[in-house]
Amino acid sequence: MASEISRQQPKWHLPTPSSAQPVLKFQNSLTKTKTDFVPKRGRQVTWYNCGPTVYDASHMGHARTYLAMDIIRRVLEDYFKYDVLFVQNVTDIDDKIIIRARQQYLFNNLKQTTQHLDAALINTVEDAWKAYVSSKLEKVAGAAESALKDWDSFLASMTPEETAKAILVDEKFKMTLGALQTSRSAISNAQKSLAANDSSKVQADALLDASQDIVSVSLDKEHGSEVNDPKIFRDFPAYWEDKYFEDMEALNVRKPDIQTRVSEYVPEIITYVQKIIDNGYAYEAQGSVYFDTGRYDGHDGHHYAKLEPWSKGNTALIEDGEGSLGSKLTGQKSKNDFALWKGSKPGEPTWDSPWGAGRPGWHIECSVMASAVLGENMDIHSGGIDLAFPHHDNELAQAEGYYNCKQWVNYFLHAGHLHVEGQKMSKSLKNFISIQEALKLYTARQIRLFFLQYQWNAKMDFKQSSMMEVIQGETTLKNFFDNVKGVLHKIRSDGSRGASELPNGGVTHRFGPTEAQLLSTLQAKQDAVHAALCDSINTPVAMDEIMNMVSQTNKYIATGSKAVNPHLLNKVATWVTSMMKIFGVADNGADIGFGSSSDQANGNVEDTLMPYLHTLSGFRDQVRRMARDNAPQNQFLEACDVLRDTQLVDLGVSLDDQEDGSALVKLVPREELIEAREKKQAIQAEKEQKRQAAQAERERKRLEKLEKGRVSPMDLFKSRTDEFSRFDDQGLPTHTKDGEEVAKSRKKKLQKEWDTQKKLHDEFNKEMGNQ
Ligand SMILES: [Zn+2]
Repeated sequence: MASEISRQQPKWHLPTPSSAQPVLKFQNSLTKTKTDFVPKRGRQVTWYNCGPTVYDASHMGHARTYLAMDIIRRVLEDYFKYDVLFVQNVTDIDDKIIIRARQQYLFNNLKQTTQHLDAALINTVEDAWKAYVSSKLEKVAGAAESALKDWDSFLASMTPEETAKAILVDEKFKMTLGALQTSRSAISNAQKSLAANDSSKVQADALLDASQDIVSVSLDKEHGSEVNDPKIFRDFPAYWEDKYFEDMEALNVRKPDIQTRVSEYVPEIITYVQKIIDNGYAYEAQGSVYFDTGRYDGHDGHHYAKLEPWSKGNTALIEDGEGSLGSKLTGQKSKNDFALWKGSKPGEPTWDSPWGAGRPGWHIECSVMASAVLGENMDIHSGGIDLAFPHHDNELAQAEGYYNCKQWVNYFLHAGHLHVEGQKMSKSLKNFISIQEALKLYTARQIRLFFLQYQWNAKMDFKQSSMMEVIQGETTLKNFFDNVKGVLHKIRSDGSRGASELPNGGVTHRFGPTEAQLLSTLQAKQDAVHAALCDSINTPVAMDEIMNMVSQTNKYIATGSKAVNPHLLNKVATWVTSMMKIFGVADNGADIGFGSSSDQANGNVEDTLMPYLHTLSGFRDQVRRMARDNAPQNQFLEACDVLRDTQLVDLGVSLDDQEDGSALVKLVPREELIEAREKKQAIQAEKEQKRQAAQAERERKRLEKLEKGRVSPMDLFKSRTDEFSRFDDQGLPTHTKDGEEVAKSRKKKLQKEWDTQKKLHDEFNKEMGNQ
């Protein structure tokens, strides 16, 4: 025992990593460089993303930001395993919302109250048309005057060259022209209708619908200030908020953990603004409150426009940030000062405040809602690059002025621009694509695969030729998954357990030099993907590495299809699938592949499910009918067989009846099932044929036997006159033909013969009587 105690474990050495490990870095807009990502609280990551201003359908420009942020979020949550708290707002108080809500309300009102076409209505539309010409064509010198003087000759003078020149001055020129022309022809149609005594509501509606944009602008100008029902300003954004979330769901974008809505945070906004005033960084002027950029910038270590210092003083950006109703505001000390609180005018939603009735400015909304959930500091703030100045710079100034802190946000991430076919997306260029339109052309998976080809902050060009490449890549991935699944399935069912048989009857493990090579490639790719994701979530490089792994594995399958290592293939395919799940490309439930729901090319749930549901419903109808009719048990069993062997086979569903009475459900290609069904039917037909033949033979023998019984035992011996001459009353011979009495021993035999015939004859009679 003593010697055992004296023996000690040898010294243990801490392993040294073979190479330096990459750390996660983010392209940080606060430095314009890649900075190491250090969350303030270990694994916890707090994140605020600027959400949508809800007044219209979301387009691919919005998708650029929300999909990019979704990919980063998924990588942080599912790859780096951070506990992320993702907060996003909905801006439902905004100048654009107010104007659109009022316009829609006034236009709908006009349509509802218009019962027929008359000269007054045509005049109203024509006045609106003229006003629209004056205001919308003013940027192009001389255009408004010529258009009002003679529309047709003005239109004729707009050659492609002239139009191109005009677009340089006003990018919306062509769109304006289109709207004016549509309305102009509707006006002349209406005049003709009226002259022909057709003053129906249909004609009136046609005029109004064709002139909606034009009429709405003038209605709002005239009556906008009379709109004061708060419900109008709530219902309009609520509708578009729903649409936004439908789009995000269709794109498989994760829902925010916490969602805030501006209209529900007005009291917090008022308190926040008051504190900024108290801290000396804001002032009230004529019912509005402005941020005092002059006092703030440089005071107490504060900097205004930390993200884009060079944009400070950019009037166009500042005005755009203040909103279309903002230009009416007055009283700022400097043109850099922006509104925290806007004194409302009639026709705008209002809330009471210490500065009078008003509503929050745009930028303050995000500062307040982000602070309300995440407090005085957050790890990540994000949004589209367009928001960097002034929105995000103003947010930072407000929050840092409120908290008197130096760094409210540690990492500011900005999603890059989206172009369409090389050009900025714009309604006037007709390259404007809503998310719904894009989803009609491509699946959500294809769009996401396309987005993964661009790093989140890069400029993206959404073009058809690139989408074709993406679809090709998707097919490559799908084929890879199908091939691996096929090999694995085969090995599962062929009894080899993945080992190869050798000519001498032994088996081998299939881990040779080619397998070692493939495994080492996999490890290298895993390292490379990790390095790419650490490099500010560089998805294009990560996807390249993954696709390269797929092609290496395809080569391995091709060269050794009879002897591949299934465990290794499973390892590669599971890893590729896991990366696709992390990127939101594959379903979470999938082991290998994109998953069941996304196997559909169009991803349409209804198209996928309806055939199965019809079968289910039809079977239910049948069972209920039979139960009501007290149908015998075998009819139920027959119906079950038809369901299994016919209806489900046609749907590619295989039900394997198990010993425990339940069925194993499998999705198998329809063709395979039909082939199996035909084989089964052929075997059954053969069995049936044999059964029928046997039955016929039995019947023949029975009839033969029956035939023997046709003769009555009474007559059995009477025909045998060569043997017998006299019979008793039962027909039993008493004397031979020679007149001698039949011997006793012979009589006994004859009696036996008689008895047998009696039995046969009775049976015969019974059968005959039955018939
Ligand atoms: Zn924001």
